[in-house]
Amino acid sequence: MRSVRRVLVVGGGVGGLSAAIAFAQQGSEVLLIEKAPTFDVPGVGLGQPANALRVYDALGVLPDILDSGFIYDRMFVFGPDRDLIVEHKFLLGDDKVPAVCALSRRRLHQILLAAAQRAGVTVRTGLSVAKIHEQPDCVTVRFSDGRTEQFDLLAGFDGIRSTTRLHLVGTAFVPRPSGFGAWRIQVPRRDYVTGMEFLQGIGSKTGAMPLSNDLMYLFHIRPEEPGAFFEKQRLAELLRERLRGYGSYVAEVAASLTPASDIVYGAIEPMLLPWPWHRGRVVIGGDAAHTFPPHLTQGAAMAVEDAYALARHVLRGEGSLDARLMAYSQERYARCAFVYTFARQWLEDEQAIRTAEDLAAARVELMRNGSARIAVSDRILNSYRP
Ligand SMILES: Cc1cc2nc3c(=O)[nH]c(=O)nc-3n(C[C@H](O)[C@H](O)[C@H](O)COP(=O)(O)OP(=O)(O)OC[C@H]3O[C@@H](n4cnc5c(N)ncnc54)[C@H](O)[C@@H]3O)c2cc1C
Repeated sequence: MRSVRRVLVVGGGVGGLSAAIAFAQQGSEVLLIEKAPTFDVPGVGLGQPANALRVYDALGVLPDILDSGFIYDRMFVFGPDRDLIVEHKFLLGDDKVPAVCALSRRRLHQILLAAAQRAGVTVRTGLSVAKIHEQPDCVTVRFSDGRTEQFDLLAGFDGIRSTTRLHLVGTAFVPRPSGFGAWRIQVPRRDYVTGMEFLQGIGSKTGAMPLSNDLMYLFHIRPEEPGAFFEKQRLAELLRERLRGYGSYVAEVAASLTPASDIVYGAIEPMLLPWPWHRGRVVIGGDAAHTFPPHLTQGAAMAVEDAYALARHVLRGEGSLDARLMAYSQERYARCAFVYTFARQWLEDEQAIRTAEDLAAARVELMRNGSARIAVSDRILNSYRP
């Protein structure tokens, strides 16, 4: 097999940066392109569970991540007034990696970008792919600036609206509205918020994730019209209305919202692409291949697992490139299918709680089975070794 020497990574998110580092550290010449003009990413924060932290360890960035984030080892499910239903200690991590380290998305990007540059990755921003021309022994790419270059592999980590996925499967597989949306805002951390928290309400769910000693982010998940667009000026008023019915810090945050509050709203649009995730010398990973409801905090984690696995299969696998890319697709699909199914069911079950009676029934069931259920998921997620 002609070896894979020149790799184009499309997309400079968590997945693309990790793929670029993994290929470059193993000797490939890597060009990473990002369509945004800078790496000044929006977004609030990310919980990075042990399985992602093991990949970061393999990429050599674990100490920077642990130094920058807030480490926690449990999750809690409360009622709407923060009355405890379940406390769960994650069965994630080991002596080397904690269960979860949460940090701001911006900081995670800075760490990965610096590592990519140290590994010799060439990074070009403000650039995207205009045309992909596949040939048997290379892939020729015309960029948005008119330049044309040849690569041995094109790895598309270009996110939920991936044009690389469009090239592979057209519109046959696209993220579809679930009918639910997620609201997020960064706020001062309450000192009693020391882990991932869910406050199960009636008709919605709210919660918080600590990001540092000083900061946490508050999220709110509820039914929203597919395609809903909210004017920035109205976000505070709309979120305040939606948080009515919750007590504790949620009520305090709701009362403090102003039109200047930095609120992020996004629809939840799950998608899982069946294998193959490639054709010829073009392959995808991360949100381009799968997007999950956020409940297991595994979206970015699966993107970095994909990234590392892709480099391993391509550079150290057996057989033709096609066989290696198929082995990558099969390995990753199985794991992502678990996250997709578990997170999606969780979303649908929690949002089906529409009355006080539903909440009372859910409370009893969660007290009995909630922790054991998450424990099974923890074991599956924790089993991954890069
Ligand atoms: C509410 C919410 C909460 C979440 N919480 C967590 C969490 O706690 N933990 C977790 O692990 N995950 C979480 N996620 C999921 C996580 O954000 C994503 O799964 C992750 O960012 C995917 O990484 P990616 O690199 O595949 O895609 P992205 O981060 O979307 O990056 C794609 C990049 O490609 C660029 N791009 C797009 N098109 C092109 C093109 N044509 N050419 C060049 N560049 C292009 C984009 O500008 C972008 O920079 C959450 C998601 C949501 C919505």
